[in-house]
Amino acid sequence: MAEINRAVKGTNDMLPSDSHKFQFVEGKMLETASLYGFREIRVPVFEHTEVFLRSVGDTTDVVQKEMYTFDDKGGRSITLRPELTAGTVRSVIENGLVNGALPVKVCYVGGCYRYEKPQAGRLREFHQFGVECFGAASPAADAEIISLALQVLENIGLKNISLEINSIGCPECRKNYHKALGEYFSSHIDELCETCRDRLGRNPMRILDCKSPVCSALAKDAPKVIDFLCEECQNHFDSVKAHLDAAGIKYTVNPQIVRGLDYYTKTVFEFVSGDIGAQSTVCGGGRYDGLVSQMGGPKTPALGFAMGIERIMLALKNQNAAFPEPKKCDIYIAPMGDAAAVKATSLCTELRRDGFEAQCDVCGRGLKAQMKYADKIGALYSAVIGDNELFNNSCNIKNMSTGEIKEISLDNFAEQFMKIKLDSALSSLEESVL
Ligand code: ATP
Ligand code: MG
Repeated sequence: MAEINRAVKGTNDMLPSDSHKFQFVEGKMLETASLYGFREIRVPVFEHTEVFLRSVGDTTDVVQKEMYTFDDKGGRSITLRPELTAGTVRSVIENGLVNGALPVKVCYVGGCYRYEKPQAGRLREFHQFGVECFGAASPAADAEIISLALQVLENIGLKNISLEINSIGCPECRKNYHKALGEYFSSHIDELCETCRDRLGRNPMRILDCKSPVCSALAKDAPKVIDFLCEECQNHFDSVKAHLDAAGIKYTVNPQIVRGLDYYTKTVFEFVSGDIGAQSTVCGGGRYDGLVSQMGGPKTPALGFAMGIERIMLALKNQNAAFPEPKKCDIYIAPMGDAAAVKATSLCTELRRDGFEAQCDVCGRGLKAQMKYADKIGALYSAVIGDNELFNNSCNIKNMSTGEIKEISLDNFAEQFMKIKLDSALSSLEESVL
């Protein structure tokens, strides 16, 4: 029987007490991407299954083991997106963006779904921030998105991260490489897992990304793709490194990186955190020059990256990172009696129109309980309104941390409240200067 009081395995709730942290991190991501000209795109959470088969690749772990696929009531095969590149590529082709001014630069934040074994840093619903750039073939573009990824991680305050890069070449260099790899793994065929035995004939590079201990041990001694690059791919990789060197971006070349999705060509890279244990890759990306045409669009070089937001939050938590303070209620208005409650509603409406977070009693509670609540939510100011205040058309505004009280008229309430806030901000500034 389904349990209605428990979230599905591998899913997390983001609670209101944490939302300011996620908003800070996601805000920084989108803000940093915009400095490089990337604009937000939103694509559906589900696509025709074929979109992922064609792009992610049908020999990958993601497609073979991890997709949430089902038939909808119209008999279409639908899949919850395991990542956002495929849907983004589908969208930029369908909407003709790749036929306009190039490069097209887009970014996104969204949920992804993979049927994986849940553990720290590995969920069944997780969220990615990512960028995709279409129409840029130059190594400068590779360096630009790597620099963007680094700046995002720096801007959110993540420490202890390292950049690893590799080149996995183009289909041309891969012909020879696949041959060498095929020969190597054929000589160990009895040791491979069942999935990898099937991959051997179809796409031996996928074996390099297998998580089974035996296959990954074999992968360590396998021929390296970087030794099989054609002249163009080698020049491209050298130039990417020269751009990174010139920008002062530190990296190591890790020939083991092949990335888990089929569409990558040439440059691939990962940012790894030293603070989250086994699932240590917080960002993965690279170039995918063949994908747009493979998906039915015009021949368009492209590249991008995706970051796992939960993994980044985990790393920040383990580093005791500081977040901006959550927003507090500016003023709590506590009415006593029905007439005062009506007035409180209109005062709050006025305050909110002027941009203040204002709250008043909506539970019909007595004064003592209301003030307890105001304290609990950390209201900065409070005002009590009863018959006297209504009669005098004025009330006291109390600064909840200093206890200081100021009387203001109930007319032009928001304007006067603004002045109180400004005066208090000024005097605390003066104090801090003295
Ligand atoms: P891994 O090797 O850890 O399985 P991957 O190669 O499958 O990663 P990508 O498809 O490149 O990962 O996704 C980009 C990023 O999304 C990863 O670097 C990671 O930070 C995050 N990510 C991927 N899968 C998950 C998951 N199941 N739970 C949480 N985050 C994930
Ligand atoms: Mg994976």
